[in-house]
Amino acid sequence: MKELPQIEIENASKATFDCVFPTCGGACCKQGRPPVEPGERERIARHLKKFLPHMREKARKLVERSGFVTKRVKSGQPMMAVSEGWCVFENQGCVLHKVGALEGDRFKYKPWYCAVFPLEREAKGKWYVRQWKVKGEGWDLFCLNPKESKKKALESCAGELEFARRFDGGREGWRKSEVDLV
Ligand code: SF4
Repeated sequence: MKELPQIEIENASKATFDCVFPTCGGACCKQGRPPVEPGERERIARHLKKFLPHMREKARKLVERSGFVTKRVKSGQPMMAVSEGWCVFENQGCVLHKVGALEGDRFKYKPWYCAVFPLEREAKGKWYVRQWKVKGEGWDLFCLNPKESKKKALESCAGELEFARRFDGGREGWRKSEVDLV
């Protein structure tokens, strides 16, 4: 199989990050409205029955009634729905993450936008680590404050970085496709 491409992370030398979930209560999923690509929507919809029993009751009812995405659009894609102030799939952690992890791949059901966090890909394809004061970061999550941790983001986010390399290497192509075969 073709080797994964190396990717350049613009602020790699300075960025720090340490995920303290569950201590933070899953704050990055509060009002979480990630854009969801066509292949991701298809995969989540196809496996929805698996996720429903793990969801918060109100979120489950909302999804059963009107779906898991809304008419709001970000980066050209519909955004995830929110219930009681939280992403519909948040329930003491991400249900999509938990079910994926049980099946051996924590990223297989999550939108790529969530899977790479705290990495972010700019429209021109460059990657960087989200941090306060970097590129006008407007989210006041404490974990994005570089002073909160001394851990180098590239080490603490090795899994996310590997995912980003797969993403750039075309191995996550199903996400942007209309047809998901898995
Ligand atoms: S899909 Fe999962 S990781 Fe993304 S915002 Fe929702 S609960 Fe959080």
